[in-house]
Amino acid sequence: MATVTFDNATRVYPGTERPAVAGLSLSVGDGEFLVLAGPAGCGKSTVLRMLAGLEEMDSGRVLIGGRDATAVPAKDRDVAMVFQNYALYPHMSVADNLGFALKIAGVPDAERAARVREAARLLELEEVLDLRPQALSGDQRQRVAMGRAVVRRPQVFLMDEPLANLDAALRARTRAQIASLARRLGITTVYATHDQAEAMALGDRVAVLREGVLQQVATPHELYARPANQFVAGFIGTPD
Ligand code: ADP
Ligand code: MG
Repeated sequence: MATVTFDNATRVYPGTERPAVAGLSLSVGDGEFLVLAGPAGCGKSTVLRMLAGLEEMDSGRVLIGGRDATAVPAKDRDVAMVFQNYALYPHMSVADNLGFALKIAGVPDAERAARVREAARLLELEEVLDLRPQALSGDQRQRVAMGRAVVRRPQVFLMDEPLANLDAALRARTRAQIASLARRLGITTVYATHDQAEAMALGDRVAVLREGVLQQVATPHELYARPANQFVAGFIGTPD
């Protein structure tokens, strides 16, 4: 587990004028579930990618567990990212999909099997461990994608609109599972969504971005009660 701190982080993509993320300063507490919220294009994915080490920063720093991680390569950051377009290995069983990263990392068989079992239990995938992804429902596949992050026991979870491919009913159910999973594991989580209902339901706190600029970071209750400006009020007041 770890804290995450952005210190004046800025990213300007080559060939563009407006920063995708501008002067972001934000701290996420140890074990906190922080939601990054705002409309498409506001910079959510860029923030996650900077934290994962998949995107350069033009200025500023990012700290993970109090250590400056700005120059640390992605593979050494101990963060695990779950994307919207999860890709499972179609020719492997669920168990092998879950254990693949550990196998690559050279984790011994017995420990790998134990961690896969634990992830399967947490994610209610025990019944489908021997199946191939094509035999699974959409939400089961999504849970396998999350399970692949869980088995790694990262210091930080990053989730980039992980529910975007699910229909409304499944989204609500999976949302509840994610919330309970993250809290049970106690892993610091940064979760991006454009969906205000999802943001308000999931976040210990919600950070609202507009055109790369942080507008407010507060608990859902505080955002409703005291939105910092019209943009925040409009964002949280507008159903998806
Ligand atoms: P979000 O995830 O909130 O939709 P992004 O972080 O993907 O936002 O994008 C923020 C801004 O940066 C948008 O204006 C987007 O068009 C731009 N952008 C994202 N990736 C690139 C890239 N690789 N090159 C140039 N511009 C990009
Ligand atoms: Mg995005």
